[in-house]
Amino acid sequence: MHIVHIAVEMAPIAKVGGLGDVVTSLSRAVQDLNHNVNIILPKYDCLNLSHVKDLHYQKSYSWGGTEIKVWFGKVEGLSVYFLEPQNGFVWTGCVYGCKNDAERFGFFCHAALEFLHQGGLQPDIIHCHDWSSAPVAWLFKDHYMHYGLSKTRVVFTIHNLEFGAHFIGKAMAYADKATTVSHTYSKEVAGNPAVAPHLHKFHGILNGIDLDIWDPYNDKFIPVPYTSENVVEGKRAAKEALQQRLGLKKSDHPLVGIISRLTHQKGIHLIKHAIWNTLKRNGQVVLLGSAPDPRIQNDFVNLANQLHSSHSDQARLCLTYDEPLSHLVCTLKIYAGADFILVPSIFEPCGLTQLTAMRYGSIPVVRKTGGLYDTVFDVDDDKARAEAQGLEPNGFNFDGADGAGVDYALNRAISAWYDGRDWFNSLCKRVMEQDWSWNRPALDYMELYHAAKKY
Ligand code: ADP
Repeated sequence: MHIVHIAVEMAPIAKVGGLGDVVTSLSRAVQDLNHNVNIILPKYDCLNLSHVKDLHYQKSYSWGGTEIKVWFGKVEGLSVYFLEPQNGFVWTGCVYGCKNDAERFGFFCHAALEFLHQGGLQPDIIHCHDWSSAPVAWLFKDHYMHYGLSKTRVVFTIHNLEFGAHFIGKAMAYADKATTVSHTYSKEVAGNPAVAPHLHKFHGILNGIDLDIWDPYNDKFIPVPYTSENVVEGKRAAKEALQQRLGLKKSDHPLVGIISRLTHQKGIHLIKHAIWNTLKRNGQVVLLGSAPDPRIQNDFVNLANQLHSSHSDQARLCLTYDEPLSHLVCTLKIYAGADFILVPSIFEPCGLTQLTAMRYGSIPVVRKTGGLYDTVFDVDDDKARAEAQGLEPNGFNFDGADGAGVDYALNRAISAWYDGRDWFNSLCKRVMEQDWSWNRPALDYMELYHAAKKY
């Protein structure tokens, strides 16, 4: 099958959140199943070009009075077409955050379809994502389907319904098949007016993580490479390296890591509450976060300053925008060096942080919502639910959206760490051995693509 993703994010060259991870890792997984996958991406001037191999200009075409240059390169082994319209205003600046985002992404979607059309390409599936490439679905059905692309079908994935519900509703109406990124989130949004009329073609397929990209055994940023066999030794060394890098006390205390966009969705008030609770219980906290909203960013800067004076050797909040590589280094070190990764989201379509945490033998502490509910099974409360999935419990979770809720999970997690190191170490080993790769979800997507073709 030939699948073309039209997307505005792609890890690691233009990643803002999970959408960027998914475009790359789903594509790699499907390509590994011997299908032909291409990605069409805007040629932003903020692309991280160090990860693009053999980038070269391929050709130009014109559409709507604008010349569009097409560049081609390889990213993580995937063939990527970069579109660069010569109308100047469109791809300057970074991925999101321009006043005219809707206009420039609308232009991009149109230009991408025109690229397929003018190039005579007839993919089996065009896969578009979230509000930003939602216009592909209706532009295709209104126009391109009738001109040269009649064998192509459109699949649309909702990664987060919080943004651009109006665009999403329109794409849901036109796509042949639609998905979202976990089964529970598909149920949570089933009543949303953007989704409700289209439930007959709507499926929840859990995201996975790319085991080659996230691999504690082949990770040059980690001091001692590890698998589940030497997880204790590997994580001890990683924790020391993290403590040293951030100037925390080199001590054997439970370390809680948080890696998050700092927005309302991510449960900011619960994150703050958990930071203080962890410190009260003699734990350490490392947070890597960025807040798109300057008020929230300021709030966390104040908290960071406060913690710097009261708990300088126990807590570190990394809030600045680093250059991408050091971001990555820091992210990896936290996943490897933490004992727990906290994800107290108010809602979470899938969540990748808890899956990556488990890959690095860190225990997830999460709120029971969306994909967090589908992937984290409480060691005390969820044995039967885990067994029904053929799994053993792998973390701590909580209901509710107040301090008492997060305390319920975090207190048990920290106590388990203090009370039974052998038990805790065997839990780390166990979570590392669980399979949260794309192996299964990629097959689910292939099944869906085949079903779309029959439409
Ligand atoms: P969302 O897409 O809602 O932000 P996900 O859990 O689906 O949440 O994906 C988040 C991705 O972004 C993960 O790969 C995580 O490691 C990464 N991430 C989140 N915040 C940061 C940050 N401040 N710095 C670096 N990586 C981050």
